[in-house]
This record gives sequence, structure tokens and C-alpha cells, in this order.
Amino acid sequence: MKNNWSESTAKTYINKYKKLGHNKDVALRVYTSRLLGRNPDLVIHGGGNTSVKTKLSDLDGKSYDVLCVKGSGWDMADIEPQGLPAVKLKPLLNLKKKSYLTDEQMVNYQKRHLLDVNSPNPSVETFLHAFLPLKYVDHTHANSILDITDRPDGLKLCKKIFNSKVAIVPYVMPGFMLAKKVQEVYEKNPNINCLILLKHGIFTFSDNAKDAYKLMIKYVTQAEVAIKKLKHKKIKQVTNKYNNIKPHQVAPILRGLLSNKDSNDKYIINFRKNKKLDYFINGKTVKKYSVKGTITPDHVIRIKPFPLIIENKDLSNLKNLNKLFNNYKQKYIQYFKRNKSKSRGKKVMLDTAPRLIYVQNMGLFSVGKTMKDCLIAGDLAEANAKVISSIEETGQYRPITEKDLFDVEYWSLEQAKIKKKMLPLQGNIVVITGACGVIGYETYKLFKSQGAEVVLLDKDVKKINDLRKKTNDLCIECDVTNKNSVIKAFEIICERLGGIDILISNAGSADTGAIAELDEKLLRKSFENNFFSHQNCASQATKIMLKQKNKGCLLFNISKQSVNPGKNFGPYGLPKAALLSLCKQYALDYGANGIRSNGVNADRIESGLLNKKMIKSRAKARSITIADYMKGNLLHDEVTSKDVANAFLHLALSQKTTGAILTVDGGNIAASMR
Ligand SMILES: [Zn+2]
Repeated sequence: MKNNWSESTAKTYINKYKKLGHNKDVALRVYTSRLLGRNPDLVIHGGGNTSVKTKLSDLDGKSYDVLCVKGSGWDMADIEPQGLPAVKLKPLLNLKKKSYLTDEQMVNYQKRHLLDVNSPNPSVETFLHAFLPLKYVDHTHANSILDITDRPDGLKLCKKIFNSKVAIVPYVMPGFMLAKKVQEVYEKNPNINCLILLKHGIFTFSDNAKDAYKLMIKYVTQAEVAIKKLKHKKIKQVTNKYNNIKPHQVAPILRGLLSNKDSNDKYIINFRKNKKLDYFINGKTVKKYSVKGTITPDHVIRIKPFPLIIENKDLSNLKNLNKLFNNYKQKYIQYFKRNKSKSRGKKVMLDTAPRLIYVQNMGLFSVGKTMKDCLIAGDLAEANAKVISSIEETGQYRPITEKDLFDVEYWSLEQAKIKKKMLPLQGNIVVITGACGVIGYETYKLFKSQGAEVVLLDKDVKKINDLRKKTNDLCIECDVTNKNSVIKAFEIICERLGGIDILISNAGSADTGAIAELDEKLLRKSFENNFFSHQNCASQATKIMLKQKNKGCLLFNISKQSVNPGKNFGPYGLPKAALLSLCKQYALDYGANGIRSNGVNADRIESGLLNKKMIKSRAKARSITIADYMKGNLLHDEVTSKDVANAFLHLALSQKTTGAILTVDGGNIAASMR
């Protein structure tokens, strides 16, 4: 493994953070934490932690010895000094003689001695960092260390690889008891500079940042070299049996089977495949080696103790799939019951949905309540596949026991890391067409704020590219008037997110002309833009919703023109009147499937269709001011794109409303629904 330390970069960090009021110790701690955090073979997604012992002053003017240790919620890859909360060291050391602390006592005590109460919670390994007397302590779950220790003969292998400066610690659950164990090991042998925690990870420590980091690279490299020297035997693969089923076709079915209709739980699922994953998933003995547990304990909170494995032949049989999902659920319930009876305290079972679905001869579907969780699960799956494959080629995979895994999965301090406030639309996949327009973008922001995963569709390549720079959400170039373009977009959506729950069919264009004299082409084009485009999207979305078997919601941006035509607005109003009927037709045809279909009739909203120039000319034609023109409604109040977005949200949340049109025009009796 490459040592990425650079003297000049280290100096840059010191200078940069000095200007921001942080001392050299903290600056270097930030630097090497990032070096560790940015190497995926050492750290992924918040795994591992680091600390530095330094002096900081409090409001009383006195200087205190403190431990700046990684805080909960921070990732080492982009950590800042705020991500290393300072805890007064002396009170931590005062507990060296304690033999036991409850989790609540430990967390409470750590928080009580923070220099700033607004800091994030210090790591669950704070006491361990404190009890090691050296200034810099680095901890990772390095792949190569797990590779040599997740084996029945892990201890023996470690003794062969490492010298006497390395102490090997048997598995103890993280927290105060592990800190006590490490204290005991260190006091027996104060010459050590590294701890290998069997089936968990590695700690290195030194009085300077560069050396602690260097030691990490050194020992991880020694493990890598040792693995290379072992005799390798390739994992036997299942024979390639491909059928024509594609991931995007399977995803909505799996997503439907995952959702819990009673609790309204919905999941995002993401498909990925690559050579290493394929090798792991297509192993003949995958059902043995992939269900033994995670390579390091804290992965269990994100990917559960075992995956769901589907053989390719089961894909074409819905009954089989149903059975497999049910079996998984039962297996998880049994796992919970079996281990709950062996543990202290009350435990409440978590959801029973798998977080990893391995489909042989296809790839991996990772699962999460949000896209972020889903992608983290996928990354952890890749790390697990890599390490387990390597062990199985050279020996036998054996991680911590099921009971130890359970204790971590159901540890309140671990659960606190992933618990987030549930938002009303969490787990819902929303697709917005015309997303780069004023109303589309406003709607995107609003639905996003409600916890939905939003996909943005627009035909304007430049605008979509600009949007990609602003957001991590999926942006797809799509011409909604072109059926193939729509089909392709929905294929991508299914592969990346698993399906769709809410369609906001918003794209449209305004064409004008006196109906008798206009060019027929214009009228037909307007029907493509304002009617068939909606049908293209609604039809595709509905077919996916039917596969998911978990309801759905179609929302159309219609127009007041649909019920209250404007002079010379035929090319726009006629397809909009047809769109209103389309909206009702979907409500009628798919109500029995729980798919709701509703529309919004908005009017006089400043947007791409009614731009500043048009507003000006219309106000002028009526000899009124622009402000008066915009307020020309019963409420005498301007209606904005935000109001339209709110109407969409309202309809999305109104579970018992279908076939309804919501008017958003500030009041206009001529355009009101009857
Ligand atoms: Zn750890």
C-alpha cells in the first residue's frame, strides 16, 4: 500500500488551519485522517476513527489536556476540525479503574466533558483512544487485516506475519469493554505501536502524525504481502445460464416484494455489477460463504447479517421470488428470536427487508430507505465481496459469531448512527418531466424537501448538464414526445432506483393561432407536446407501478385552458382538454390497482410558457400594470410556481383523492371546475 504522506501538503494543512484558529496538532490530525479516509482499502463510509491528544483553552482561560476524537456522522475522507470534538482528557482517564459502564453512562459521561456541548457525539471508541497514551491514534477496518483475521486460524497467521511491536487482541464488542481490554494489553506491553483486533480492524499509534500513519501503511502492507504468498485456488463458478431478463425489468418486481404494505415502508434499490462482484455472486458456494456475516462488525447495521440470494432461473417465476422473500423474512425473524433470548435488555426487531440482493448471472441490487443508504450498502457489499472472495481462495471465511453480530446490529449506539427523522415522502421515487422549467424545478425542490428521491427529466441537453452540476440526483435527457426516449429513461430509472411511485407529468409548450386558419402541423405538434407526451410518460410509469404492486400516483400539469379556453389559444387548449380526460381515464382504469390520477389547473404563473415579455405585452394590451395583470384574480394575489408545486405535493399526499383537478389560479369563476 502506497504511503501518501507529503511534507509540503502537511505544511499547507498547518498553515491553512492556523489561519482558522486551529493548532498544528489538529491540522495534522485532519491531514492524516483524510489520507486514511480517502483510501477505500482502509476506510469506507464513516468506518474507522482517529484522535489526537492536545491542549486547548476553555473560557476560564486555563489550558486543558483534551482528546480530539472523530465525531459521529463525520467521514474521515473530508473531516474538518469540527468533526473532531474535544473531550477533556483527565475525566476520561479517571475512569481507567472502572470495570463496567452502561452505554448510557458512557455516552453521557463523554458528552458531559466536551469542550463545546454543540459538538457531534464523540466516537464510541473514545475511551479506547484515551487509554492509549500516545498522541496520535489511527484506527481503520483495512481490507487486508480483515482478510488475514476473518479466518479460523487468523491468530496463528497474525503471529507469523507481525513482529513483537504488534499486539493481537481477540474480538471484544466495541465500546467501554474493548477500551478496558486494550488498556490491559497495552499496560502489559507498553512497547507496542499497533493493535490487531481480530475480525474487526487495526489501531496504530505514535507521538507524531506522520509515524502513526506510516505504521498503518506498514502493517497493512505486511498483511497484503502475506496474503499474496498464500496458495490461491479460484472459487468454482456456476455455469452461465443467461435468459433475456434485464435488471431494469426485475427491479420493480423486487422493489414491490421488498415494500411492507402494512407499515408503508418503501425502499430504493440500485443495480450494480462488475467483475469482482460477479465472481463472488456466481460462486458455486455463495450460499455458504456470503451468509456467515460481515467482514467487520459495524457493516451489519447497513447490510444486515446475511443477503438474499436469487438464482437466475427464479427470476422468471413470480411464485418462486415470493417464496424467496418470505424465506428471507422468516430467516431474519428466527435470527432475531434466537439471539434476543441470549441478550440483555429489551430489543425491538428492525425491519425484515434484506439490504443486499445477489442475483446470480445478473449482479447486485443494494437496498436502502434512501438513495444514500442504498449506495452505501452497495459499496460495503463490494468490500465484503472482495475480502470474502480472497479468503475463500486461500482458506475459509469465518467472521465474528452470529451473536456478536446481533449485539452490534441491535446496539443502541450503532442504531443511533443511522436513525433519521422520517419525512412524509421517504422511500418514494418521484419523476418530474420538464424539470428544468420554473414549475418543474420548484416542484423538484419541494418534493426533495419531503424526503423523496427525485429524478429530473428534460429534453434540453444544456440545461440538464447544468442541473447535473447542481445536484447529485439523477438527471436524464429525455424527449417526452418520443416514446423510445421515454422508455429508455424509465429503464435507467428502474436500474438506478428500482421503479417509480409518483409521476409529475409537467412538460408542455404553448402554441397559439386562430383555429380555422392555423397550419395543421402546428396543431398536431401541440398535441404531441401537450397530450401524447403525457400519455407516453403516464403509460410507462403505470406499467412499472403495476409490476411493483404497491399503488402509485400520476400528477398532470393541465391548464385552465382545458375548461376555460382563451381566444386564439386553440392549439394549446385543445390538447389540454384532452389531457384532462386522459387524467380521468387513468383514474378510472387503474383505481382498482391503487393508482391515483390527479391534475393541476394553474393559470397566469410566470414561467417559461408565460415569460416576462409576454406578461408585459398582455398587461399593455389590457392597459393595466404588470403587477395588476399578475393579480388579476378573485384573491387579488399573484400565483407563483411555488403555489403550483404545493398543489402537486398536496395531491401526492392525499391518499384518498383520485380523478380530481385542483385549481391554482387565485380564483377565476369562468375557469372553476363544476
Ligand atoms: Zn472499528
